[in-house]
Amino acid sequence: STAVETKEFQTEIRQLLDIVIHSLYTEREIFLRELVSNAADAMEKVRYTLLTESGVKDKDAALEIQIDTDDSAHTLTITDTGVGMTKEELVENIGTIAHSGSKEFIKHLSSKGDQKDLNLIGQFGVGFYSAFMVADKVTIHTRSYHQEGKGYVWESDGVGSYTITEGEDRVRGTKMVLHLKEDAHEFAKEETIKRVIKQYSSFVPYPITVNGQKVNTVDALWTKNKSEISDNDYTEFYKFIANAFDEPLFRLHFSSDAPLNINTLLFVPKENFEQFGFGRTEPGVSLYCKKVLIQEKSPLVLPEWLRFLRGVIDSEELPLNISRETMQDSALVSKLNKVVTSRFIKFLDGQSTSEPEKFKEFWEKFNFYLKEGAANDLTHQKELIKLLRFESSSTQPGELISLADYAGRMKEDQSAIYYVNGPSREVIESGPYLEIFKNKGFEVIYTYAAIDDYIFGAIREYEGKRLISADEADLNLGDTEQQSRSEDALSEEDVLALTNWLKEVLGSKVTEVRESKRLVDSPAVVLSPYGTNSMQRMMQLVNKDF
Ligand code: ADP
Ligand code: MG
Repeated sequence: STAVETKEFQTEIRQLLDIVIHSLYTEREIFLRELVSNAADAMEKVRYTLLTESGVKDKDAALEIQIDTDDSAHTLTITDTGVGMTKEELVENIGTIAHSGSKEFIKHLSSKGDQKDLNLIGQFGVGFYSAFMVADKVTIHTRSYHQEGKGYVWESDGVGSYTITEGEDRVRGTKMVLHLKEDAHEFAKEETIKRVIKQYSSFVPYPITVNGQKVNTVDALWTKNKSEISDNDYTEFYKFIANAFDEPLFRLHFSSDAPLNINTLLFVPKENFEQFGFGRTEPGVSLYCKKVLIQEKSPLVLPEWLRFLRGVIDSEELPLNISRETMQDSALVSKLNKVVTSRFIKFLDGQSTSEPEKFKEFWEKFNFYLKEGAANDLTHQKELIKLLRFESSSTQPGELISLADYAGRMKEDQSAIYYVNGPSREVIESGPYLEIFKNKGFEVIYTYAAIDDYIFGAIREYEGKRLISADEADLNLGDTEQQSRSEDALSEEDVLALTNWLKEVLGSKVTEVRESKRLVDSPAVVLSPYGTNSMQRMMQLVNKDF
């Protein structure tokens, strides 16, 4: 039968399509990158399925992306032999958005005037819709890799709704036909398509043909020798795997044989989208075995706090048919995780001295992830503590030091590391907590984030030196002699009368009022009997996701 079902797009998608269709975006050729990357993703999935399941439909079909242009019909067709989609998958994958980050992205786009940055579309899991920048109708013919099942045809003009019709059975995979808008006819020209593929998709790990001619060189960059790879190759590869348009901030390419055979290529992106309120970043490092994708954007191969990384980890030692279900318990995967994480931390440590400016930029954008790691990841806590950076009473605003810097210049009579928490340098320096330290010439670390105090509270000491909050009540700065009382000081009797009176006035708001030995200029200071003030602030935060 050829019953036609008409379905509405989800609200967010309607909003997105409205923006996409009406955008005067100059780099609209990125739509091809998105469609080719979807085709490549679908083939990565099938390649894995071929290894793990029997009975995949058309198992001998060549894994290849075919692009055909028709200059007279003004169509562009992209065909893959990937996993294809069932009818349910069509509805679920194309027509609905589940990820909250994508919704945030759409909201963000809607709030912008003419400056809409559609370049980010692929990073937010809605790349497919970029097809409507150039097409006024898209037809998808698809056939799932499951033996049973049928072929389906999805079609839409991108305005409000789409149709699904049962189609003729066809070879496994997906064929997308773009009916080009009048001002986009250039994308039915072979030369244009070849140029765009070269520009955006040279690292697709499958052969791509344009009207039957092969246009890319297929290679797994991470298995090549570093000396054979140019900076530009790396950057293009990053853009391909991360659906990114920017240059990476850092890259780390390393191979090792012991304790595990690993080939790894990792990138730190230029921007941290979590910082901009786009929701939680999804992990972006994929796990391979001998160039075969085992798990895309694996949540297991690196700790959660490294979710900002993009890249590839390839290990020959993984069993090819490792199932995603047993991966969680795989000792090998956790070993990979540990080795790569340590190597990456060591890399950052090295960069902090060899590329201090770049490291500072990294720190400013990504410090929260490292702190999250230092707070939660006990395996790597020690290594991560070394990477933490702070301002202090001895630095200029914006200048950063490590705990090692601090420890290296402690005063002879100083036995502990002191820190104080506050929302800003100005607030900390105008408060009373620093006075005694200034007087003794002790440096005090300024912590502006509650998580810093949480970490200090958790680790307690650094290289044998206690970490002490400057607002702790029982601060002992190692004085044996009490400061001599000045001439006009109150008598002990008067002090007692004053503190008793204050206690009466303040009632249950205080547990104790006593004469201070730490103040120099300020008349009074509030201290916490339960550890530090900032710990209390932290307690108020515990239910938040830090
Ligand atoms: P993303 O690729 O980030 O998931 P897209 O908007 O590009 O977001 O694609 C949405 C979904 O549509 C994909 O996750 C996939 O499930 C499905 N899809 C798109 N193109 C194909 C294709 N060529 N073959 C199979 N599935 C596809
Ligand atoms: Mg995509």
